[in-house]
Amino acid sequence: MLITRAEVFPIKIPKKTAFKVAYATRTACLGMLLKLTADDGRTGWGEAVPVAEITGEQRAEVFRALRDWLPGGLIGVDPFDREEIRLRLERDLANMPSARCAVDTALWDLRGQTLGRSVRELLGRAREVHQASMSMGIKGLAETVGEARNLLGRGFHDIKVKIGLDLENDVARVKALRRELGGNWRLYLDANQGYSPAEAIKLAEALSGEKVEFIEQPVKAADLDGLTEVTRRSPIPIAADEAVKDPASLVRIIERGAAHMINVKLMKCGGPSNAETLIRMAEAAGMKAMIGCMIESRVGITAGLNVALALANVHYIDLDGAFDLVDDVIATGGAQLADGRQFLAEGPGLGINVDEEKVKKYLDPDLN
Ligand SMILES: [Mg+2]
Repeated sequence: MLITRAEVFPIKIPKKTAFKVAYATRTACLGMLLKLTADDGRTGWGEAVPVAEITGEQRAEVFRALRDWLPGGLIGVDPFDREEIRLRLERDLANMPSARCAVDTALWDLRGQTLGRSVRELLGRAREVHQASMSMGIKGLAETVGEARNLLGRGFHDIKVKIGLDLENDVARVKALRRELGGNWRLYLDANQGYSPAEAIKLAEALSGEKVEFIEQPVKAADLDGLTEVTRRSPIPIAADEAVKDPASLVRIIERGAAHMINVKLMKCGGPSNAETLIRMAEAAGMKAMIGCMIESRVGITAGLNVALALANVHYIDLDGAFDLVDDVIATGGAQLADGRQFLAEGPGLGINVDEEKVKKYLDPDLN
């Protein structure tokens, strides 16, 4: 099997409601779909979602880099030449992890289809379903409680609350959630680098009795000393997110004991292959892993869920990035949600049928 064609489609799918985190407010999925066609007529899909604050990439640069790289980098290549492709991607698209993710994902989709197996099966097949979580942006106290109540009513059991702009308000919101909604559900916090180490320790101490599963990335990604200090003193487990990108960055975190857990995102690490490496490295270091996402279409989310359901060391999933989009580029198959749990439709590779009319409909006019 050889790749004969590669196309990139920058898409923009609006969200139903804006989403505010410590560094920005998001109103749309700004993805880039990659379609690979092989000489047997099969097609593989992947997605890149560059986010400057997290992946360090500019969207227009990723688009141009992929478009320019694909003809020489992938046409005529056998998807099973994994090691050669990995080295080529790391050499040519070194600082573009989301671009590498799109390529890696589409190749896994093709390999799975060729073998008649899902990516989940190829990577490990640890489980059939996983408890889903839903993230809530930064908002007022009454709104936070109201939205969480609504989510619990819809069957969600795990809720991630975004914090990091205002310590007192964050503590008040979390206490109100537990006071109003009880303790029989799992609460995650994510500060998205919003605090100083001293503030993060203060927050963790103030919330130590509130049954918080973990606090994600309380301090700046580059401040590994600060993160290590928070991890040493916090009564609540600390998860590294923005600080974990590739395997080399995880080595530094493990060496220092800079976090209790890691949040792996395909867009940060370069796709399912590196995600597997990170999750296994974390396991060897005694650290739990979670799988997170950006605001992605269901193509990217389905890739993340295939990894999450494959590997035993994925203890939490945060794959809610497509729940709030106004439309879906997948016609059938892929990641499914029911009763607050996520699972995959049957099918080889990613198990998705992409609706190419929808892809055309949401093509981003600002990029092309
Ligand atoms: Mg996070």
